[in-house]
Amino acid sequence: AVVVVGSCMTDLVSLTSRLPKTGETIHGHEFFIGFGGKGANQCVQAARLGAKAAIVCKVGSDSFGNDYIENLKQNHISTEFTYQTRDAATGTASIIVNNEGQNIIVIVAGANLLLNSEDLKEAASVISRAKVMICQLEISPAASLEALTMARRSGVKTLFNPAPAMADLDPQFYTLSSIFCCNESEAEILTGHAVSDPTTAGKAALVLLERGCQVVVITLGASGCVMLSQAEPVPKHIPTEAVKAVDTTGAGDSFVGALAFYLAYYPNLSLEEMLKRSNFIAAVSVQATGTQSSYPYKKGLPLALF
Ligand code: ADP
Repeated sequence: AVVVVGSCMTDLVSLTSRLPKTGETIHGHEFFIGFGGKGANQCVQAARLGAKAAIVCKVGSDSFGNDYIENLKQNHISTEFTYQTRDAATGTASIIVNNEGQNIIVIVAGANLLLNSEDLKEAASVISRAKVMICQLEISPAASLEALTMARRSGVKTLFNPAPAMADLDPQFYTLSSIFCCNESEAEILTGHAVSDPTTAGKAALVLLERGCQVVVITLGASGCVMLSQAEPVPKHIPTEAVKAVDTTGAGDSFVGALAFYLAYYPNLSLEEMLKRSNFIAAVSVQATGTQSSYPYKKGLPLALF
């Protein structure tokens, strides 16, 4: 199974012709609510590919929290360790997007930050029985570190996605990562090196590898990704399909969820082949609007991916 220890966020999206100024009230022309949060996004993608999936997370005892749990269940994700709290609201991202696609976003992590050590101890059995555990940085770093430590102790492969990026990342995150997977801007913040193409990504990946991860993957949007491992510390570029991108929001989470699926269910594939297939799946996700709503299901994808 794939287990995520991570975030759930309700996206509150207003579409407007322009962004409001301070103190101004303007009319938007459309509003919708979406399900987001990096943890849940990655879990949803893995589940849609056919993974038995569970998420260890915390939402509020509010209507957003109730709706989020319903969304997880609809995606066949186990919510046995999805906790609800009265001490904070469900995490939200309030988003305003203008006609040019520019946006302003306020994230309130809320209940996500209250996922704690006791919750993780209660979920210990589901973590220790997983094939792969994924963590990100939208819950408290202490909780992520504890989850990674628990997984490693049980011999569970860890896939760590250091997002959103943090400049002074605790060095233990590297040594606890079987696979450390980030995008260009995260790689830049973590290494201080500019990353804009496979060559510069390869250099940054080497810096990250030397901090103690077993494998480093840096995603490069339309250019696919670069990989590097302790076993083969020479950067390898894995290009992706040329597609017409409509909305790339959440592409990285689709990629990470797909990679977790392959690590858990096709462990005999080469890493390169897993990344090729993850590239393909993420490229499908950029061809539709929305985040989770753009993630493909196994049914509908080429059989060669399975
Ligand atoms: P993030 O969403 O974190 O910014 P990226 O932009 O690097 O991450 O995208 C993650 C993955 O999604 C890429 O490695 C690639 O596989 C796929 N992808 C993203 N944008 C495109 C695109 N325009 N065309 C094809 N694939 C894409």
